[in-house]
Amino acid sequence: MKIGVLALQGDFAEHQVMLESLGAEVTQVRLPSHLDGLNGLIIPGGESTTIGKLAISYGLIDPLRQFAKDHAIWGTCAGAILLAKDARRSQPLLEVMDIVIERNAFGRQVDSFEVDLDVPCLSMDDKQNRPFHAVFIRAPLIESIGKNVEALATLGDGRIVAARQGKILTTSFHPELTHDDRFHRYFMELAK
Ligand code: GLN
Repeated sequence: MKIGVLALQGDFAEHQVMLESLGAEVTQVRLPSHLDGLNGLIIPGGESTTIGKLAISYGLIDPLRQFAKDHAIWGTCAGAILLAKDARRSQPLLEVMDIVIERNAFGRQVDSFEVDLDVPCLSMDDKQNRPFHAVFIRAPLIESIGKNVEALATLGDGRIVAARQGKILTTSFHPELTHDDRFHRYFMELAK
């Protein structure tokens, strides 16, 4: 299984460590040719405007859009913003997922928080389906989803923080910053 991590900015190294621990062969993607032969790609957390601008500079916008048409792709936090059709402000986006996302929806860096989430799709090998400990760092909120998009996790008040459209996965939070590899395994299943 060959998985790429978009390595322009942000916490791609943490994703790489977790993927390698699960036996994936990982490529750091900085140029369009690095997408060749990959089964899936993760766009990490970081700063979505910076990642978007660098993706333009490296000629990656169209290749990433093409890749998303028939491959698994997962955006965490800033990566989720990049996948969205609409971030309600002007910044470079891939626009491959039918979601509206609100950046920094929970406030500033100091308002970052951690919470246990119920994530039914992760119950594959875990009959009790224990909660997923989710780390939110100046996180976006998935404000609304299109009809082909499924909400995978919500906060207690019903606001959506993880969603899937076919093989495109988004999480507002950072599974790569925990020791729980269930989301990475779930993604590798999508990439198969
Ligand atoms: N606040 C960042 C943004 O808007 C995302 C933060 C993160 O990826 N942890 O791009």
